[in-house]
Amino acid sequence: MNSKIITSDSTTAEDKFELQRRQMVEYQLRDRGIKDERVLAAMSKVPRHEFVDSSWRDLAYSDQPLPIGHNQTISQPYIVAYMTEAAEISPKAKVLEIGTGCGYQGAILGEIAQKVYSIEITPQLAEKARLTLSKLGYYNIKIKTGDGYQGWAEHAPYNAIIVTAAPKHIPKTLIDQLANNCKLIIPVGTWSQQIVVLTKTEDQIIEKSTIPVRFVPMRRKSKSRK
Ligand code: SAH
Repeated sequence: MNSKIITSDSTTAEDKFELQRRQMVEYQLRDRGIKDERVLAAMSKVPRHEFVDSSWRDLAYSDQPLPIGHNQTISQPYIVAYMTEAAEISPKAKVLEIGTGCGYQGAILGEIAQKVYSIEITPQLAEKARLTLSKLGYYNIKIKTGDGYQGWAEHAPYNAIIVTAAPKHIPKTLIDQLANNCKLIIPVGTWSQQIVVLTKTEDQIIEKSTIPVRFVPMRRKSKSRK
């Protein structure tokens, strides 16, 4: 009898989150112009509430960034969808993410791409994201603790690179690690930032500034390191 009550309670909580997730996709994403069905499907599926602390769960699907500890944030759902759509990721893609944070953007990429590599500079966040992602069954995402400014040369070139912390300038290393005819999506700037969509072709680099954003700054591990 008791266990039945507990079961039905937990079902209700999951139902509530699923409804909120569907509303998020319709009103925050589709209504604002996100069209890529694969991105919309991933955002409909990934349980965003599992990536935030329990005290923030009720706001997990709201139209805003949320704290994830260590002075960092999980991005607003629309920004996650916007950057993922802009990256034009194919099912066979190998993707690099800089700034794992809680791992939510990584999970979205994991739904869409074949393999995701993600770098996080704060060891505690990297560890927590690893736990959350493995608990949810995302085995195609590999997380490394380190300075993402350097990229992850071992697995390069990547078919898309998404950066979720803002440097002042686009790191050249990341452009070098991008495959031809692929895209790097990155917030650039200090107080005033824009998402830059960079396309690399065989003979040129095309940079397009798009929407204004406010990301946490990209930190450097050690200035003295070459
Ligand atoms: N994509 C995340 C949001 C990230 S917030 C999500 O879905 O939750 C930005 C993250 O970038 C923070 O966790 C911060 O610690 C990390 N970060 C900042 N500078 C970095 C760097 N140089 N290399 C890797 N990660 C960095």
